[in-house]
Amino acid sequence: MSQNRQIGVEFIAQQPLGLRTPATALMNHLAARPPQTRAELMDSLGWSRTTLSRIVSLLMDGGLLTEEPGEAHGRGRPVSRLSLNPAAGRVVGIDIGFRSIRTIIAAVDHSVLAIDERPFADEIGQDEALEAAREMVDALLAEQGTDWAEIVGAGIAVGAPIERGSNAVALGGSLQLRWRGDLLKAAAEHLPCPSYIGNDSRLSAHAEMLWGAGRDFDSFLYLKLHSGTGGSVVLDRRIVTGSTGAAGEIGHVNVDPHGLMCRCGNRGCLETVAGVPALLHSVSLIYPHAPSWTEFRELLTAGDAAAVGVVEDAFETVGRATASLVNVFNPDAVILGGALSRAYPQGAQLIKNNLRRHCLPVNNHVEVRMGDIDRRAGALGAVGLVLTHGVV
Ligand SMILES: [Zn+2]
Repeated sequence: MSQNRQIGVEFIAQQPLGLRTPATALMNHLAARPPQTRAELMDSLGWSRTTLSRIVSLLMDGGLLTEEPGEAHGRGRPVSRLSLNPAAGRVVGIDIGFRSIRTIIAAVDHSVLAIDERPFADEIGQDEALEAAREMVDALLAEQGTDWAEIVGAGIAVGAPIERGSNAVALGGSLQLRWRGDLLKAAAEHLPCPSYIGNDSRLSAHAEMLWGAGRDFDSFLYLKLHSGTGGSVVLDRRIVTGSTGAAGEIGHVNVDPHGLMCRCGNRGCLETVAGVPALLHSVSLIYPHAPSWTEFRELLTAGDAAAVGVVEDAFETVGRATASLVNVFNPDAVILGGALSRAYPQGAQLIKNNLRRHCLPVNNHVEVRMGDIDRRAGALGAVGLVLTHGVV
């Protein structure tokens, strides 16, 4: 790894918090926009010229920003524009889902250069998953005629809460039997670059905040309705982490004290009602065999009464649980992601109905929106994590 790359990666993490916070704010701002003039940046960030100059110089020293000279118009001075420096290196994003692994190679300005997705059996352990991800990235880099020396860091999204400090999956149940110990240490054994790890729902929320529907709101709840049911709380544009790093786990809110056992070891969690496996199981009681997710989506599209019924019941329950969170956090919006949200966008209205019914009037303004970012959200958020490590 060249000295230049190390400056790019370690640079932000080495800065004192007083500089790191505005530096990442500026990078996140630029990552979501075309090149900006200094006047535009001062206006949107609310910074003085002195503050902006200090942070721009800092990032220029780290090789993370470039400045394009503008064209002269009339007698005025040409106005230059600042952007993230794509030549500062490349970033890897890895999303290890229940049944697939997605890998992205992106430039430091967050533009996606290559992407791959492969299925894998959901009972494999962390070493097999990380090795599979390594092989996928190897192949993408080879296709691009480059190698790991160009990579400034890898972000890894995992579909489970990660405990701060131990960097271990903190879920209980069966997953913890296969995923145990420090995930960052495991990543270091498989990936030849600095690695950063995070919960997939939180990283998806991070991606929405930077590049998607979350740009329009300072505070929002993000719900990932997928195989697992995840969530994230964003207040004043900061992701709430909680005391041990597991804030936002809406999927493990109890919705039925007599309900089914959950993979976390508790009973009657929201995930046992609204997770995709629960929906497929419900429909399998009606049809001669358990449908695949693809078959289930076809049933939904065709308006099959059983499929629509179980999905609408799930959204009603999600809506009631979300209403409780809205009363607690008073956000501007609820943003929906995950395969179930995309398969049944009408569910947004069911959640909205429950907010109107169960929330305080002071929350009448809360919007319910589909996320803008598709199934790549977790991997893209993992890319963002590499540059904002330690801040969000
Ligand atoms: Zn649970």
